Amino acid sequence: MSLPSRSLDPLPPIDEVRPGVWSIPVPIPNNPLRYVLVYAFHTDRGAYIVDAGWNTDDSFETLRAGLKHIGTSIDDVQGVMVTHIHPDHYGLAGRVREASGAWVALHPADAALIHDRYEEPDDLLDRVGAMLRRAGAPADELVSLREASMAVRPFVDAVQPDILMEDLEKPEVPGWDLTALWTPGHSPGHLCFYEGRYRLMLSGDHVLPRITPNISVHPQASSNPLGDFMRSLERVGQYVTDEVLPAHEHRFVGLSSRVRELIAHHEARFLEVVESIREGYDSTWDIASRMHWSRPWERINGFMKRAAVGEAMAHLRALEARGVVRAIEGEPLKWELLAS
Ligand SMILES: [Zn+2]
Ligand SMILES: [Zn+2]
Repeated sequence: MSLPSRSLDPLPPIDEVRPGVWSIPVPIPNNPLRYVLVYAFHTDRGAYIVDAGWNTDDSFETLRAGLKHIGTSIDDVQGVMVTHIHPDHYGLAGRVREASGAWVALHPADAALIHDRYEEPDDLLDRVGAMLRRAGAPADELVSLREASMAVRPFVDAVQPDILMEDLEKPEVPGWDLTALWTPGHSPGHLCFYEGRYRLMLSGDHVLPRITPNISVHPQASSNPLGDFMRSLERVGQYVTDEVLPAHEHRFVGLSSRVRELIAHHEARFLEVVESIREGYDSTWDIASRMHWSRPWERINGFMKRAAVGEAMAHLRALEARGVVRAIEGEPLKWELLAS
């Protein structure tokens, strides 16, 4: 297997966000996001990090060099707080633990997904296929869409966490005032971490400055992930925050206004969905094909397309929970508007 090449654009610099808190960009090969921002908290014993990166030699070496650059060592990492199970956050956690003996912490709702997703995925793939059929995916696209996430599997070392971190738990990071906030939506067990001394919100993929995280219905998601996500947004928006430290793009000021923007974005998407049903499109697939995406529907392929269909379904399930639409069972499942 050849490793995907690294983007030619340079990574952003390693930054000291606040005294003792560092941001270390770690590359994600062949991905438009380009890097994940690993945050390191200095202590006398060594660093505690939030997220780890993607499991390649390049990512590992970048993280190792980054920790050295900020005056510590990968051998001395004490804890890895993983925001969620996606490969760009969790993939490298096992290797960091192997190098250092650090504990790895993950929310139980994400820990519960590891086995089916990364160790024995056949059953999950069948469930994804069934879901796509019910969504109305054309037969000639079913197989490639069903397998679309398998390419990332080698980049995850599917370790079990040492600590199951529940909502409002305080990870033991000496000298720091961190609190885990369970923020389901992008992933069922997504965690943000609030740091009380400097009023920092480490937002993972839950709140990013420019892009909106993918919120998808999936066999491993709750019945209404977008409803969960919007509630989780309201929740983090209430924390008095001086700066947001997201896992991608760049850090920013203005958490509550970004939260309002994200909620408004999804409210606009709801209107798009309702409009396409009113025009007579009734399968999830057809409704997805009518929504506005970052590129034309015909040019969306593979994993991106599955994410788009999952996202359309998330909007439909949220509208169903609000009593705006209802599902008529069948293959494909059909959607209709409820009279209001
Ligand atoms: Zn993610
Ligand atoms: Zn991510």
